[in-house]
Amino acid sequence: MSRALCQHCQRPKNACICAFAVNITNDIPVVVLQHPNEVSQSKGTVSLLTQSLTQCEVIVGENFSDCATLLHRLKQYEGNIALLYPSEHATTLEYSSQAQQDYDTDFNTEITSEKANNHDIQCIIILDGTWKKAYRIFMLNACLHKIKHIVLPTGIASLYQIRKTKKDNALSSLEACCHALARIENNAEKYQVLLSSFVKFNQFQQSFNQNKL
Ligand SMILES: [Zn+2]
Repeated sequence: MSRALCQHCQRPKNACICAFAVNITNDIPVVVLQHPNEVSQSKGTVSLLTQSLTQCEVIVGENFSDCATLLHRLKQYEGNIALLYPSEHATTLEYSSQAQQDYDTDFNTEITSEKANNHDIQCIIILDGTWKKAYRIFMLNACLHKIKHIVLPTGIASLYQIRKTKKDNALSSLEACCHALARIENNAEKYQVLLSSFVKFNQFQQSFNQNKL
């Protein structure tokens, strides 16, 4: 029996995740650099992310030195493009008002001197892969070293239950992207709909995996 694939998410129709996609008009465009190992990961959250954001492009690879699309984006947003990566120079993203900050976490996030210093960011790059693969992509691509680096504050709990990560509270690419955009656009509520849908997506994945056994 042939397994019919959904034309949108490229997954078998009984495992189609398109129903979980929402429609968010993100003001800040997102570029996802996806490690090739992640492409076939049916658990991957990036397909849900790309279907839900109006401005989100995925580039698959490991070494992007000759990648015209990435080089074009770096030039287009020169000085205003930021990589979400915990380098030693990374700036912690914060909301510019306490009300927004109270919205999404019970934890006391550390208020740093860089608070709300996100106004100049016009595009973000995220790395999709395990920590090891993300590190590899970062190390291989010198063009990513020269741009601004941003990180999320500690203490954001992950809703991701499918893939156990070794690091506590490691966020999926979808969650990290939502939390980053919410802070840069200073609008926590806007991205809650996708995070809520993500919880349902997780439950669906788990039931699907159980049924397969
Ligand atoms: Zn689908």
